[in-house]
Amino acid sequence: MVDNKIRYLALENALKYKGKANPGAVIGSILALEPGLKKDMKSLSKKIQGIIKEVNSMSAEEQEKALSRLPKLERPEKEEKKGLPELPDAVKGKVVTRIPPEPSKYTHLGHALSFLINYTYAKKYDGKCILRFEDTNPEKSTQEFVDSTLDDLNYLGIKPDKVIYVSDELPMFYEMAEKLIMKKKAYVCHCSRDEMKKNRDEGRRCCLDKSDAKENMAEWKKMLAGKYEEGEATLRLAGDMGSKNHVMRDPVIFRINKAEHYRQKKKYCVWPLYDFENSISDSVNGITHILRSSEFGSMRIELQDYIKDLLGLKKQVVVQYGRFNIKGATTKGREIRELIKEGKVSGWDDPSLVTIKALRRRGIVNETYIELMNQMRLSSNTAKNIDWSMISSINRAILDKDVNRYFFVENPVEIKISGAPEQQVELKLHPDFPERGSRRFTAGESFYVAKEDYEKFREGKLIRLMDCLNFEITGKKYKFHSKSVEEYRKNGSAIIHWLPKEEELANVEIRMPDNEIKKGLAEPSVKNLKAGEIVQFARFGFCRLDKKEKNKLVFWFTNR
Ligand SMILES: [Zn+2]
Repeated sequence: MVDNKIRYLALENALKYKGKANPGAVIGSILALEPGLKKDMKSLSKKIQGIIKEVNSMSAEEQEKALSRLPKLERPEKEEKKGLPELPDAVKGKVVTRIPPEPSKYTHLGHALSFLINYTYAKKYDGKCILRFEDTNPEKSTQEFVDSTLDDLNYLGIKPDKVIYVSDELPMFYEMAEKLIMKKKAYVCHCSRDEMKKNRDEGRRCCLDKSDAKENMAEWKKMLAGKYEEGEATLRLAGDMGSKNHVMRDPVIFRINKAEHYRQKKKYCVWPLYDFENSISDSVNGITHILRSSEFGSMRIELQDYIKDLLGLKKQVVVQYGRFNIKGATTKGREIRELIKEGKVSGWDDPSLVTIKALRRRGIVNETYIELMNQMRLSSNTAKNIDWSMISSINRAILDKDVNRYFFVENPVEIKISGAPEQQVELKLHPDFPERGSRRFTAGESFYVAKEDYEKFREGKLIRLMDCLNFEITGKKYKFHSKSVEEYRKNGSAIIHWLPKEEELANVEIRMPDNEIKKGLAEPSVKNLKAGEIVQFARFGFCRLDKKEKNKLVFWFTNR
């Protein structure tokens, strides 16, 4: 059964692409139909290779005949509810969502999806989307991260209706704090960190009972005036010391931090903590809907709702969805910072990472994020695993028709094919779009082929240089046989890509996701590409030109 399905997909693909099925495309299609096969990729891949080999050796007529003999492939109906489900309590023109990055790290794929979800919902209901930089940690927030986030959002096509920096609104947060102090719902605590922890664990309240509102207000003013050092005083919320939810046990809502802030400089030394800042900012800025992953947790929602109730602030509709796990990738800012420090990755855009910067530099295009978001089902609360095969199959489908094809020969080995005629060979930039033009080579007897192909040469079988000629092998000697594909089909063993020695070839390096550098030669027209362009190197994969150096072109590998 599965074999028939694979054969069907391989034949279909081969007929679409000049008689040559692409293993990557076939794997992608069969996994979409039979996700269970993922369990044993090794034997699946082997099976597919075998079938493709057979299919690719057939003539177009044979392929068509074989396809017609197979039972028609049942494809599941495309889900009608593709895209985002309706939002509860959404009124057209009134929805306001927010994107709340912390400018202390680079955004990664998971953030990108969450940003896109919030943005897309705002647009879906003709509403607004606010970008809010949560820059209340003076030690971690930097302008560099603000700029990179703005750049990433722009890349994703997100145009926020308003940009807010929480640090610009500190006076408003102070006012809210003072309201709570006057209600005896907040108090200044002088306990040490350890003492505070012990008291919270034991459910014991400390400083509030020993003070009144006036006293607390005086202490608070001293905090604001810089009279206390870091750790000497905090403002705490009078929550519920008996609550099973530890978050509710008089949490700290403001702390002293005297580090210089990238934006406010030395203006403030008292900073709100996350839950306090969040609950107030969402309400004051008129946010109606919050879409976030369920890892946020209901404990914090209880605290944020409590704060809003105390201050008479409006609540938001919260829609939670399962968090996005990006399989095999480090996404925690702290961990990435460590890896950079230890020299294990080259920076935030190292090709092994899934930051937007890295993915963009590799050639993952912005439409891929949107398609990925549409494929995620937001309704369920279970974590969603995103693996690389998903990303690359979407990206491949988008790039496939857009980008042109070229020859890159890795680890070139020179071979001389005696008797090969001098000829001009014309190869289309894209087999499906002849109007894009072609590349022309002058070929003689000497060629470069990839070492990997060269090592598989076997006597007695024809090898075909793609769209050029067939040759036969005797010992280490290569002899011209014929030019036609039909001749190759009778007794051929491989169709390989190649480069003519006569041409002025380009030196190329390709940086792989694991940072391995592949070296080789590419055809001359590659020299005319501009940095940032993506190409498909035949039988190798998609690559993005990262930079042009004096004697070489440096590409980053995108995906197969
Ligand atoms: Zn205390």
